[in-house]
This record gives sequence, structure tokens and C-alpha cells, in this order.
Amino acid sequence: MTNSKFEASRSFARKLDKADPLASFRSRYHFPKVNGKKAIYLCGNSLGLQPKNVRAHVLQELNDWKDMGVEGHFHGKNPWFGYHHFLKKQAAAIVGARQSEVVIMNSLTVNLHLMMVSFYRPTKKRYKILIEEHAFPSDKYATASQAEHHGFKAKDAVVEVKARKGEETLRTEDIVAKIKELGPELALVMFGGVNYYTGQFFDLEAITKAGHSVGAKVGFDLAHAAGNLPLKLHKWDVDFAVWCSYKYLNSGPGGTSGAYVHDRHGKNTKLHRFAGWWGNDEKKRFQMPDKFVPQKGAAGWQISNAQILPMAAHKAALEHFAEAGMPQLRKKSIKLTAYLQYLLDKINESRGEVLYKVITPRDADSRGCQLSIVAARNGKATFDRLTDAGIIADWREPDVIRVAPVPMYNTFQDVYDFAAILGQT
Ligand SMILES: *Cc1c(COP(=O)(O)O)cnc(C)c1O
Repeated sequence: MTNSKFEASRSFARKLDKADPLASFRSRYHFPKVNGKKAIYLCGNSLGLQPKNVRAHVLQELNDWKDMGVEGHFHGKNPWFGYHHFLKKQAAAIVGARQSEVVIMNSLTVNLHLMMVSFYRPTKKRYKILIEEHAFPSDKYATASQAEHHGFKAKDAVVEVKARKGEETLRTEDIVAKIKELGPELALVMFGGVNYYTGQFFDLEAITKAGHSVGAKVGFDLAHAAGNLPLKLHKWDVDFAVWCSYKYLNSGPGGTSGAYVHDRHGKNTKLHRFAGWWGNDEKKRFQMPDKFVPQKGAAGWQISNAQILPMAAHKAALEHFAEAGMPQLRKKSIKLTAYLQYLLDKINESRGEVLYKVITPRDADSRGCQLSIVAARNGKATFDRLTDAGIIADWREPDVIRVAPVPMYNTFQDVYDFAAILGQT
């Protein structure tokens, strides 16, 4: 649907909801209440809502623990010993990888460090890390501390690609040019897949190709991409990636995380890594061998035994993704976000000024659900007004309101109501 076919009315939004083949998924989620009323929840980019089936999945593991104690490792309904196997099929589908290339473990920044242990192996000449401007702070800290860990100065070793003057987002050609410029000095490109601040979705394939062409490794933090957009990590030849499960993947606060390692590295059991018993060959794991022999694939990066309770929540949440399918979710997502953009344009038109500037790219291929909105005036007061009206969105200093209509549980009516409240000043 092109924007010209949209209408700015509640009845039109309702009509779109009626025609939405994924509409029934909304009832599978718990919505928070604000002032006793169901909130308009547009914050799935920060913490996804709780799927109603999570409780039963977590309870299953609590019950097996209660009834069996340690025996749950092998005799539970979902034996804990190999719990990550229950997640890999769906995790692989989310990021576009082979099942052997993904593992669910730890938390996000921890996994990022573990990946850099293997894929950031600097030498005196080749030691630089390329990252995007406005990268999530944790990613900046992680890359800087890795550089320092190897004896380099972070200020010298970590290089940012910046937007051109007067522009908010990065051009692929500029990212590629920077990669070429750094050339033999570049050890690693470590970008967010979708930038958390601007909502820009980068051309991961082009970045990977450029990184490889100068001999660098390329990895992505997919915190804002996993479950938001269809990804093809294997096809794009990405070396490694990490993501969290609690944003678009709705698996609970501080939930477990994912890691992807391309099979060409995963098969190389000699590759340097930080080892722990859980990454050991599964057949030998409980024989407690002296020497660590990693499993092939991403699973060989596991360190500790699996965190069953958050993984059970993740397992429950992923069931809905398997059923809905990323292509269908994406189709709805493009339309939902386009509707939001249309309504914002209408507000600006009616005011005769750009009161709400969207810094996220307009092109659907360069963004996921989220729009980042900068108010011309009184940004924080506007945000507080939205909150009072029962909208849960999020505020990022210094001046951005981030709004993410999520196709799994948001409606066109949510988008309409948000814009209607925003437009009343
Ligand atoms: C959300 C987010 C994080 C958070 O890291 P945790 O280790 O899960 O606390 C890190 N990086 C990016 C890009 C994020 O969006």
C-alpha cells in the first residue's frame, strides 16, 4: 500500500486492523496498565511484552526442578543437559543462519566480548575497530575495553563512521569508504544491525563485503534487528553476530542472548576462544576430561551450563515467531511504520512546520519498526504528556522520542491513537 491510500482517521485504522492476518497474536500478550487503562505500548524496542505462554514454560522447568532435582538434566520433560538444542531451530530462522551457527547463552554484552576474544585478534599493524556513530554505549565500552586489553589506546583504535554534516544517518558509501581508507589497519568492523538511536538499518551485506575485501572480520550487534527484520547472516557471509532476547523477541528483562558464528569459523575447533565445560564436546562433557575439546559450531563458545529459566521464557516467546513467520511480520511492520510516518507528516502539514522531525530513514529497506522523532520544541515535555495519556514509548537523551509499533502485538489503532495524542497541543 502506498501512503496516498492511507487516511488519518480512527475508523480507517480499525479497517486496517480488521484486514490484518496477524491480528489474533495481540491477545497472546499481557499489556501493562496506565491509570487503570490498557497502555498503548510502543516500547517493544526496549522491552518486549510478556507472551502469555511464558508462565507455563517457566513453570514446567520449576516443576521439573521441584519434582526431580538434579535428574532434570536428563529426565526432565525438556532435559536441561541439551536445552540450547530446543532453541536453535527458531533462533537460526530469526537471524538467517544454519542451526549449527547459532547458540543461545549468557547475555548480550558478555557474548559480544566472547566473540571479540575470537574475532578481534589485533597485531601491531592491524588493530583498528570500526563502529557506527551513536553506537549503543555498551558496544562502545566493549570495543574500547577490548582494544585496551590488547594494549592499544581506545581513542586511536576505535574509529567511528559519522554522518555527513546536516544528515542524521550514515550512507553506505561512506561506511564502505571508511573501511577502504583504514584498509590494512582494520581488524574488525563491529556495527549495530539497526542503530538503537536513529533506527537506521544498515546494509549488512555491503558492509560485510567491504570489511572482507580489506581483510577485516565483520560482526554485528543485532539487539535492535533480531525479531525486527528478516536477516540472512549466513548468506551475507557475516563472521559473527550477537543479539538479546528481551527487545523484539519478548523473552523477559535481562533475558538470555544469542550468538552466531559462521560455520567456516565454527568448524575450526582450533580457533582461539575463552573456554568452559559447556562448550566441550557433548559426548565427553560429563566425563570431565582434562583437556577442552570444543564442539563444532557456535555451541563450542558456550562456557557455563545453561540458564534454564530465561531460556524457557525465550523458548515460549519464539513459538509465536515460528507461527507468525518473519516475512509476514515484516510485511505488516512496513505498513504499520509507514502509517505512523504518514500521520506524523499530516501533523507537520497541518502545523505548517516540521514540529516532529523523523530522523529514521524514510526508505523501508533502511529501517525496521522504530521511528526516532525529534520535537522542534519541548521534547521532554511532549514525551511526559504522552506518558500521562497512557502511552509507553521511550525517551533518549538529548532529544529523541523512540516509538516502535511492533507487528506482533501492536495495531494500526495504537499508531493512530499515539499520533492523535501527539498532535494535540
Ligand atoms: C540493548 C542493547 C544492549 C544491552 O546490552 P545487555 O548486555 O543486554 O545489557 C547492548 N547493545 C545494544 C546495541 C543494544 O541495543
